[in-house]
Amino acid sequence: MFVQPISEDQRGLVVQATAACLAHAEEIFQRSFPAIPLRFDLRGRAAGMYRIYRGTRLIRYNPHIFAKYFTESLAQTVPHEVAHYVTDLLYGLRSVRPHGPEWRGIAQALGAKPRATGNYDLSGIPQRRQTLYDYRCACTQHRLGAQRHNRMQRGEGGYLCRRCRAALVFCGAESG
Ligand SMILES: [Zn+2]
Ligand SMILES: [Zn+2]
Repeated sequence: MFVQPISEDQRGLVVQATAACLAHAEEIFQRSFPAIPLRFDLRGRAAGMYRIYRGTRLIRYNPHIFAKYFTESLAQTVPHEVAHYVTDLLYGLRSVRPHGPEWRGIAQALGAKPRATGNYDLSGIPQRRQTLYDYRCACTQHRLGAQRHNRMQRGEGGYLCRRCRAALVFCGAESG
């Protein structure tokens, strides 16, 4: 059984909690931090993610992990990601390690445990699907990931089967 994503009401609470956490950071550091856009579109094993997409700072939350661990997510994931944002504004992402001492200090001040990932049982959480590409050689089938497939299609580096030494030939994509 898949866990359903959080409801609209719960999203509202997450938005409020994120704003409150950022306000707390403003108090601690005595400066103002602009509101940050949130998305609830993260999939896979991570509960949250902070990124800069084409110059726009963004926090993404995983609506399924938040649904399964709502209280824990509000208490941990929200300050964890806000701490990444504040670390970026104070130090710049490129000059510090993602979970280095600067981030740890801020995460702790905001009430998060200063650890890189939570210990969640992810059963019921939909995982990101990876497209695999089927190839044939002279003796068997091979499945390649997107990176190798794209490299082959661009003509950069053909792969040979280790056993029969024949070049791999693409025969179709499969989602799995
Ligand atoms: Zn992190
Ligand atoms: Zn072969």
